[in-house]
Amino acid sequence: MKRTYLDYASTTPTDPAVAAAMQPYLTGIFGNPSNAHSFGKEARKAVEAARRSVAGLIGAKTHEIVFTSGGTESNNTALKGVAHANRSRGNHIITSSIEHHSVLGSCEFLESTGCSVTYLPVDPEGMVDPESVLKAITPKTILVSIMHANNEIGTIQNIAEIGKLAREKGITFHTDAVQTVGHIPVNVDSLNVDMLSASAHKFYGPKGVGFLYIRLGTRFSPFMHGGMQEKSRRASTLNVPGIAGMGKAAEIASGGLGEEMLYVTLLRDRLIKGIGDSISRAHLNGHPSLRLPGNVNYSFENVEGELLLQHLDEEGIACSSGSACSADSSGPSHVLTAIGLSSELIAGSLRISLGKYVKEDDIDYFLEVLPEAIKKVRSLTEVIE
Ligand SMILES: *Cc1c(COP(=O)(O)O)cnc(C)c1O
Repeated sequence: MKRTYLDYASTTPTDPAVAAAMQPYLTGIFGNPSNAHSFGKEARKAVEAARRSVAGLIGAKTHEIVFTSGGTESNNTALKGVAHANRSRGNHIITSSIEHHSVLGSCEFLESTGCSVTYLPVDPEGMVDPESVLKAITPKTILVSIMHANNEIGTIQNIAEIGKLAREKGITFHTDAVQTVGHIPVNVDSLNVDMLSASAHKFYGPKGVGFLYIRLGTRFSPFMHGGMQEKSRRASTLNVPGIAGMGKAAEIASGGLGEEMLYVTLLRDRLIKGIGDSISRAHLNGHPSLRLPGNVNYSFENVEGELLLQHLDEEGIACSSGSACSADSSGPSHVLTAIGLSSELIAGSLRISLGKYVKEDDIDYFLEVLPEAIKKVRSLTEVIE
């Protein structure tokens, strides 16, 4: 059996060069970067080098980067922080119905505190219509938050256009770019964003560390209180090894982005063609061209996704499904629901997500195993029916 990891949208393997860059800060260089003494200074040097790498990757200024514990914290900070700081100006937030749970959960919480939230629909390919953002704006709107690319179906939104509309109205614009930073070009100026969330473990860095880009002059309140770290924008001692690792991951991504995109897109298209050729009653979810290089999402008719995952896992293959009980949610996928899929097609969904360590061999192995696995699962469901 060949163990094959095809679940890069959940997390990516840590690049060995990232692990090596973290090593000194796990052992010898242990100082607290907030301290003025030489131990603190050493650690601070690593943190500031990482800040430059991360800022460079997204075209930001170094003082606009705030280190966090990951994508979830960055999203919580952006939504709750902007809502709180703008209480006297308004209480209306615009987002989409396909956001990550960390955005939707923050919105739900804010609704319980008196905010009103518009959840924009998406078209069958998962696109938010920028016009619909414009139409949803009211005098009370204080924030628009639309994700750059979706983690389930891979659809990439027209963030630059939405950002332009928000800016014309003077409304803060946030994007969850956890799936795009380090994978496709991301530039905070060309995207017209005021805030942007990213997470290291989605681009070959360590888990539990990320950042929030906050454009200078953006009104927001910190989420974590009780310390002056990050210019009082995020209290708590910095995760020095994690930040050093993320800095290295950003540096690697800056250097190899174009090449990696080409390679992963090639794998993706080979996989899509292979599935199309070998599996009947299969439907590709998401946008045909405006999609992440590493995302493939299919719905198979008459297939129980959870069972399919089990069969694949028995063959060493790891991917994920939007069916009833996926790891990070309790019900059927809200994203697949929002693009209008029937409950049968949601149940039969499979996300295969790729990255730089996937080999052509892995794709061939997957394409060898999948038809047999689908056949087994289909015969089971058909017998039950
Ligand atoms: C993974 C993910 C997150 C959460 O990031 P963590 O660092 O795991 O908290 C947020 N948004 C999107 C789109 C993601 O894919």
